Amino acid sequence: MILLNPGPVCTSERVRNALMRGDMCHRESEFSTLLSSTRNKILQAFAPNGNYTTTIITGSGTASLEAGVCSSLSEGKKILVINNGVYGDRISRIASAYKFNKVELQYDWCEQPNLEQIEDTVSKDSDIEVVAMVHHETTTGLLNSIHEVGEITDKYDRTFLLDSISGLGGEEINLINDNVDICIGTANKCIQGLPGLSFIVIKQDEINRLRNIPPRSLYLNLIAQLDEQEKKGECPFTPSVHTFYAFEEALGELLEEGVQNRLNRYRKASSYLRDEFKRLSLETLLPDKLLSNTITALYLPKNMTYAHLHDSLKERGFIIYAGQGQLDKKIFRIANMGEISMEDLKSLIKNLQEVLEDSK
Ligand SMILES: *Cc1c(COP(=O)(O)O)cnc(C)c1O
Repeated sequence: MILLNPGPVCTSERVRNALMRGDMCHRESEFSTLLSSTRNKILQAFAPNGNYTTTIITGSGTASLEAGVCSSLSEGKKILVINNGVYGDRISRIASAYKFNKVELQYDWCEQPNLEQIEDTVSKDSDIEVVAMVHHETTTGLLNSIHEVGEITDKYDRTFLLDSISGLGGEEINLINDNVDICIGTANKCIQGLPGLSFIVIKQDEINRLRNIPPRSLYLNLIAQLDEQEKKGECPFTPSVHTFYAFEEALGELLEEGVQNRLNRYRKASSYLRDEFKRLSLETLLPDKLLSNTITALYLPKNMTYAHLHDSLKERGFIIYAGQGQLDKKIFRIANMGEISMEDLKSLIKNLQEVLEDSK
């Protein structure tokens, strides 16, 4: 099966084989070596110029997102959530679950957030301590203007928390230049590892501020996770050891390919797909200038249900992805993250064309 969903993605044989490296006790020095190598590779890939550290959490992307959000707001302060999709909404729901004092700016799912309104909101409310948003809204494949929001948080000296779970490894990002303080990622999207591990990259300057925040969770405590990994070379709770093997291998592959080359490969794949979708008269949900390198949301062809399209392609070996929320019945999504060759994509297009013609 070729997975065209935005994670978990198709992985290489090398990554899958890494799972078989053998059983290991997570309290032995061998695990500390593995942990430290994996953390170093994350930093080499996404913060090559220093100033950042990272902590890995056993759990899907949302675990690290929740750890980042629940560990980053001081008592009595507010979080500003910028929401233009299902994942912006998820940040908002996490903030609510912790009963945070929250300001939320909601935008249409097909639009970028309004920068003037964001600056206005931040500048007028000195209680806003953390500004949180999504880098690549996986709901629609929309790329948000993180650099401009980072300029605002830098200007007003606020913490910028970014969900780049579907961005890291797939989209342009420079944590230093984009002024990102806390950045969330996962193993099984553009990094091409296996599901079960996620991570947080944190600016060194943020750490003392985070230390003064009372813990709100035992497991998802960013500082406790970081300290244990940094000082003892261990994870506080049982880590998914075998998934670590695969994650370390996937990061090795990413570094060998080069982060920029990975982006270029995805960009080339998505632009090939988009040209072909146009040829097949499929209409994209978003204008070209808002599109990421890895997801294309398309309107369902007239007189075709998602179930029919999905099932027909699945029979032919391809897994596509449904729309979410308000776009549930209207769109379908094709992601080109993961170990997918141009031959696979050509075969997808051939099969898609046949399915569309059969239903005419
Ligand atoms: C995939 C994703 C998540 C996390 O999803 P999990 O299922 O918990 O891994 C969060 N944010 C974005 C933008 C995502 O694409």
